[in-house]
Amino acid sequence: MLDLLIIGAGPAGLSAADAAAQQGLDYLVIEKGTIANTIRLYPVGRTLFSTPNELEMREATLRPLCEKPTRDELLTHNIHFVLEKDLKVNTDERVVDVSGDVEQGFFITTDRAEYHAARVLFAIGAMDIPRRLNVPGEELSKVHHLFVEPYPYVRKDALVVGGGNSAAEAALFLSEEGARTTLAIWRDDWENRDPKAGAMKHWVRTPLEAEIDAGRLRVVLYKHVDEIGEKDVTLTTETGESLTLPNDVVFVLVGSDADLTMLKSLGVKTEAGKLTEVPVYETETFETTVRGIYVAGHFTHARHIKAAIDVPRQIVPHIAKDLALMSSR
Ligand SMILES: Cc1cc2nc3c(=O)[nH]c(=O)nc-3n(C[C@H](O)[C@H](O)[C@H](O)COP(=O)(O)OP(=O)(O)OC[C@H]3O[C@@H](n4cnc5c(N)ncnc54)[C@H](O)[C@@H]3O)c2cc1C
Repeated sequence: MLDLLIIGAGPAGLSAADAAAQQGLDYLVIEKGTIANTIRLYPVGRTLFSTPNELEMREATLRPLCEKPTRDELLTHNIHFVLEKDLKVNTDERVVDVSGDVEQGFFITTDRAEYHAARVLFAIGAMDIPRRLNVPGEELSKVHHLFVEPYPYVRKDALVVGGGNSAAEAALFLSEEGARTTLAIWRDDWENRDPKAGAMKHWVRTPLEAEIDAGRLRVVLYKHVDEIGEKDVTLTTETGESLTLPNDVVFVLVGSDADLTMLKSLGVKTEAGKLTEVPVYETETFETTVRGIYVAGHFTHARHIKAAIDVPRQIVPHIAKDLALMSSR
C-alpha cells in the first residue's frame, strides 16, 4: 500500500510529491496528461502575470530572460524539477474512481491500473469542465473552449466570447496575428478596472485598446449569443439588436470548473466559493470532510500557483505525522 497517492501533476501535485519524498513517504503522482499539463496548454508565447518567486518550485531556480517568465520557461522549469528530483509521476494515466476509507485504505482505479493508498491528495486543478454558452451550434468543430495559438487563423473571421483576462488575451493575440477579430464582452466586464474582481490586466488592456484604435479589433458589448452557424454567428447586443457576424472560428472563454465527481462520491462536502463550488476542508491541514482525503491547488480557495506550491509543503508533513501516529497504534 502506498502512503500517499497524488492526483494531478500541476504545481500543487509536484510540490506535494517533493514534500512526500522529503518526508520519506511512499508516494505516486498520477497525471492524465503531461507534467504541468495546464501550463502546457497556456497560449503559446504567453508571459505569466506572476514573478519568478511566485512560480518557482525551489527558491531562485526559475531564471527567465525577462522580468516575468513565459509559458515555455515555466513549463521547462516544472519538467526539470521532476527530472532533477526524480519524482515518481505516471503521465497519460487518468484516475477514474476512488473508494474506500482511512481504516482499510483507499482504492484508486485508473484507466490503466488499480492502486491502494493510505491517503489521497486531490491536486486536480480547475480546468476540467469548461463553461459553455449552451447555444445552438456550440458543438461545431470550429468552436473551442480553450485558446492555445492564433497562427491557424490569419485572415480568418474570429469571435472571442468572454470577459476575463483569458478572453482579452486571446482576442489580442488573434488580432495581432492578422485574424479579423471580434471580442463579445458584457459591459460590466469591459468597464471593470478592479484586478481583485477579475478585471483584465492593464498590460493586456493597453495593447488591446491599441488594436481597437487601429481598426483591427472590434469590441461588441453584447447580451447573449443566439446561434453559431457554419459561416456566421448571431448575437444580441446590449441594446437588444440582433447582429450577425461572418465567422470562421469561435473561442468561448468564460471560465472552467473542477470536476468534483470523485470527491463527492467519496462523500466530501462542498460549498459555494467566491467563483465556483469548492470542497470543504480544514484550513490548516486541507483535509476534507472525509478523513484521509486531502485537496490542494487551483480548485480550493488558494488558487494561484504560489499557494498551489506552498500548501502541500504545509500539509504533507501533517500527513506523514498522521500516518506515523496511526502505525504506532
Ligand atoms: C491561461 C492561464 C494563465 C494563468 N496565469 C497564471 C499566472 O500568471 N500566475 C498564477 O499564479 N496562476 C496563473 N494561472 C492559474 C494557474 O495555472 C493555476 O493556479 C495552477 O495551474 C494551479 O496548479 P494546480 O496544480 O492546482 O492545478 P493544475 O496546474 O491545473 O494541475 C492539475 C492537474 O491535474 C490533472 N488531473 C485532473 N484530473 C485528473 C484525473 N482524474 N486523473 C489524473 N490527473 C488529473 C490535470 O491534467 C492537471 O495537469 C493561469 C491559468 C491559465 C489557464
